[in-house]
Amino acid sequence: MEKLAIDGGNPIRSIMLPYAHQTIEKDDVEAVTSALTSDWLTTGPKVQEFEEAVMDYTGAKAAIAVNTGTAALHGATFALDIKPGDEVIVTPLTFVASSNCVLYMGGTPVFADVCADTLNIDPQEVEKKITAKTKAVVAVDYTGQPCDHAGLRKIAEKYNLRIIEDASHSLGGTYFGKKVGMLQDITTLSFHPVKQITTGEGGMVLTNNLDYADRVRSFRHHGIDIDFKKRNSSNLWLYDVVNLGFNYRITDISCALGISQLKKLDGWLERRREIIKKYDQEFGAIPELEIPEMAPGCESAWHLYVIRFNLDRLHANRETLYKALRAENIGVNVHYIPIPWLSLYQKLGYTKGSCPVAENAYERMITLPLYPAMNDQDIDDVIAAVKKVVEAYRA
Ligand SMILES: *Cc1c(COP(=O)(O)O)cnc(C)c1O
Repeated sequence: MEKLAIDGGNPIRSIMLPYAHQTIEKDDVEAVTSALTSDWLTTGPKVQEFEEAVMDYTGAKAAIAVNTGTAALHGATFALDIKPGDEVIVTPLTFVASSNCVLYMGGTPVFADVCADTLNIDPQEVEKKITAKTKAVVAVDYTGQPCDHAGLRKIAEKYNLRIIEDASHSLGGTYFGKKVGMLQDITTLSFHPVKQITTGEGGMVLTNNLDYADRVRSFRHHGIDIDFKKRNSSNLWLYDVVNLGFNYRITDISCALGISQLKKLDGWLERRREIIKKYDQEFGAIPELEIPEMAPGCESAWHLYVIRFNLDRLHANRETLYKALRAENIGVNVHYIPIPWLSLYQKLGYTKGSCPVAENAYERMITLPLYPAMNDQDIDDVIAAVKKVVEAYRA
């Protein structure tokens, strides 16, 4: 057997392969350069052009671009008017921004466990958590696979709840043929460099509800009443502030990059699918591994490739396996530490053990590198390293 790098053997690769990486090409650079030398650096025509391009792509009726995915989530909880005392049901297996957006409004996140197969929020668990105070649900399309949106809609209608789809992972994914972006009351995107397309930092709110759209548009610009100037065209210096908003505006420079990136999204999704097909073929045949499961009707956008170790068949825990893969220079990661485990949430009274399915999955999961610019050698290296490490620790 080959000696593991962690035990002093030769690593599979000489330099670290990251788990995700943006793709920036010549046309992206040209788009940014031309925005940079235009008259508008912010709040100009590129912002609207980007919003229209994402509306075209997703089919959403309104789009509001903001400066991070976190700001988009904050805009969504603002649009729904979440207040102190309101409860919002959230998946525990997500980035902390998905539940912080409830805290920003003074609301209370309530965690509902995930389905054991897809690791997306389980509508049955959501229903168990509903009280008289429940106003909304934040559903994350974990790793890019759309949630059980039909199951969630049923509950939303039965209990008069609103649903925020945190689609930070799933731009380009489809649910029974429908594009992500028009499946729920309000959808948020992130354009952080690890996501499907990037603007450096950036985010967007999508909705078919034009009242929500107006609220978010005002919210990203200090809560200023955006129609005021039109109504009072004689007093040009006047404006009114009607809500406590923020400066969540995005630059034209960022949006020019976003427009250029969006044109290439479908090609990049195709490459992601090619990579995961190889992964599934190789890893599906290894009994120590569980590969991602797809629910019917779901076409994932494949943001992340998360495998779970069958720890009964290995004499190593996840930490050892993680370290061994990193030593082989495979930049593995873990998505995510369950939110109730984080110190802020512990201080707020949340406890471990409340979402056993998510917590069990967390203990044995690892994220493998996946991004369109990976070449065939990179893919082979990931496969070889996983096989090498699993063989070395096989029980
Ligand atoms: C990336 C991400 C966010 C936050 O997006 P930023 O653009 O980094 O603020 C929110 N939710 C999920 C699920 C994410 O993956």
